[in-house]
Amino acid sequence: MAGEPQSDCLFCKIVSGEVPATIVRETETTVAFRDINPQAPTHVLVIPRVHYPDAASLAAGAPDVAADLLREAGEVAAQEKTDATGYRIVLNTGEGAGQTVFHTHAHVLGGRGLTWPPG
Ligand code: 5GP
Ligand code: ZN
Repeated sequence: MAGEPQSDCLFCKIVSGEVPATIVRETETTVAFRDINPQAPTHVLVIPRVHYPDAASLAAGAPDVAADLLREAGEVAAQEKTDATGYRIVLNTGEGAGQTVFHTHAHVLGGRGLTWPPG
């Protein structure tokens, strides 16, 4: 069923605690933790507790949780004090766009100048 935990999903295992992570914020519906391979001084992943493979399917299947995800991305940026540099929320979708984990995750990147366009 849509949203149910997947036994082969790394981020479902972080939600359940089976795989450890450096958690920076948690809500009833989301978990935010540091990326294991940070690309900027602040690089936090915000994920929904429910399993949807990408942002669009989350928004279609659980729109309230999609809103929580975006709100939490902003809260992480504030907690990490990225106001001097700004920050970027990235939702890679599909292998060609660099998605490697198929459980929705918003990258929150900040703490340094960020170039545009991204590669
Ligand atoms: P994607 O490439 O799918 O947009 O992002 C997946 C992200 O998950 C990558 O930035 C990668 O460094 C991160 N990642 C992969 N495995 C782990 C892990 O076990 N723990 C943490 N904290 N991050 C991970
Ligand atoms: Zn999952």
